[in-house]
Amino acid sequence: MELRPLTRAGERFVAIAEQHLDAFRARAREHDENGTFATDNFVDLKESGAVAAFVPEELGGLGLGSIHDWAVGLERIARADASTAIALNMHLGISRTIATGWQAAVARGEPSAAAGSEGMLRAIVSGDLVICATATEPGTDFLRPLTTAKSTPEGFTIDGRKIFVTLSPVANLMAMNVRVSSSEGDQIGFAFIPIDSPGIEPQDDWDALGMRASGSQSVLIRGCKVAEGSIQIAGPWGRWSAGLLMGRTLGNLTLVGAFLGIAERARELAVAAARTQEKPKYDGAIGQAAGVQHLLGEIDIDLAAARCVLSRTAAELDAVLAAHTATPIPLELAHECMRDYQCAKWTVNQNAMKIVSHAMDICGGGAFMSGHELSRLYRDVRAGPFMQPFSPTEAREYIGRVALAAYPDG
Ligand SMILES: Cc1cc2nc3c(=O)[nH]c(=O)nc-3n(C[C@H](O)[C@H](O)[C@H](O)COP(=O)(O)OP(=O)(O)OC[C@H]3O[C@@H](n4cnc5c(N)ncnc54)[C@H](O)[C@@H]3O)c2cc1C
Repeated sequence: MELRPLTRAGERFVAIAEQHLDAFRARAREHDENGTFATDNFVDLKESGAVAAFVPEELGGLGLGSIHDWAVGLERIARADASTAIALNMHLGISRTIATGWQAAVARGEPSAAAGSEGMLRAIVSGDLVICATATEPGTDFLRPLTTAKSTPEGFTIDGRKIFVTLSPVANLMAMNVRVSSSEGDQIGFAFIPIDSPGIEPQDDWDALGMRASGSQSVLIRGCKVAEGSIQIAGPWGRWSAGLLMGRTLGNLTLVGAFLGIAERARELAVAAARTQEKPKYDGAIGQAAGVQHLLGEIDIDLAAARCVLSRTAAELDAVLAAHTATPIPLELAHECMRDYQCAKWTVNQNAMKIVSHAMDICGGGAFMSGHELSRLYRDVRAGPFMQPFSPTEAREYIGRVALAAYPDG
């Protein structure tokens, strides 16, 4: 029942992801202990072409298109190092947006619009462009960024503070949401800003319970100047639009794959322990104990549910996208896609936390030691529910409102 890719490009992406597992796993403990970003893993991901997964084949990438297969590749990488999986996800989410923009410009026959995206996509293939995505700020949410872009005669000046900027230690471009004032009221804008721009100040302050190798430091933005036309308006500040809902759904559903990957690895460790850890009481391996067998049974039941809900939700999203290549996705359908993602996120996160905990029970006290792989998985898996949107305090209300067709405005 293990998840498998559904497309040829997905098969290539997942095969590449699997090639990295031994090396990433061998490095994971040291990065976790020291809280260092796994730069070496990103060198490997550039060399293998994984960072160029969404770049079309004619530009030198893997030509990935399926959300389902993206989630499967992330799931595989997280079996070795979940920090690297979530960091790669941020880059892939933005590079997918650039690739779809390029494809649309080519289809419309607009070479000048395609040229800018093409340059970025080629830089991704050569390993010269890595992009992080930052929306999070203290005490607010994605729809209500407090980082402001003030209009000036030359363009905009940006001020604010972003937190949890995963991948930023090696990224050279930041994709960020900002608040832009306009005559029609405040708007949400998106800006691409080179990370070495004057006024961008990474804080090197990532020291967290888990995902310690993800480099999710905070970044101060002080008087950073960007040119006119470099901010794209996405809709009114504080309000959902179909585009914003789909953007959040597509790039975050795949993050759920990382938490499934943690659960998959915990199961592997639990089965290995049940087969090889011996006790005189059983005159052999602990897997002979009914209690261990029951826990393994529960792990497999929870894993089956998590795999199915993620796979089905991602495949359904692929179908929605395929059905709307020429027509916009209606707001109601976008809310339903977000609702489905929330159901998948809830199920996978809750089940993955339970699976890791049960795996620790099977392995016994050794799993509680700092150096044991399961103790890292236990800390990493706890990050899942925090990933927005939505937190566990918000998700059920959102799902219930969509069930009643009482779609939240924001
Ligand atoms: C491992 C991990 C990686 C993430 N990666 C990204 C990413 O790449 N891009 C992105 O946009 N979001 C990212 N997020 C953010 C996530 O999506 C949520 O927005 C975040 O967990 C906060 O949600 P919240 O609703 O609890 O926020 P809030 O209710 O605002 O709580 C966050 C709280 O943390 C406090 N805090 C203090 N110091 C720090 C600090 N140095 N860093 C962080 N918080 C601090 C804040 O003041 C605030 O009170 C990541 C989260 C995690 C756990």
